[in-house]
Amino acid sequence: MKKKNIGIDVKAPKEKCEDENCPFHGSLKIRTVSLVGTIVTSKMQKSATIEMPRKRYIPKYERFEKKRTKMTAHNPPCIKAKEGDVVRFMECRPISKTKNYVIVEILDKTHITSKEDMYEGIENKKTEEKVQEK
Ligand SMILES: [Zn+2]
Repeated sequence: MKKKNIGIDVKAPKEKCEDENCPFHGSLKIRTVSLVGTIVTSKMQKSATIEMPRKRYIPKYERFEKKRTKMTAHNPPCIKAKEGDVVRFMECRPISKTKNYVIVEILDKTHITSKEDMYEGIENKKTEEKVQEK
């Protein structure tokens, strides 16, 4: 199968695969939501569990609580992300009951300078709104 441009600026994987649900070699289309997380489990076939640390604002104490979000994502055979890898994954159509995301790129581990930087976009908006409500 031919490698195709998936519409975002990522390094296309060197290997090829025959997976129908691969954004590069199959027919899977990706959506605009892009997230970065660390893989905690990759033992399933073509699936990986990704963990993202995030912060939640508690108005009473005016401090942030550390929380973690776990998500499952499709792990295409041509990318083959392993445990501990920092990956970029993007939203796609539901592939199975829990998989709505697909891994598109393995990032450098230095990509995340501090864990607090992760999950910024969505969380910051929420917390800002809460602060203004006060
Ligand atoms: Zn592929």
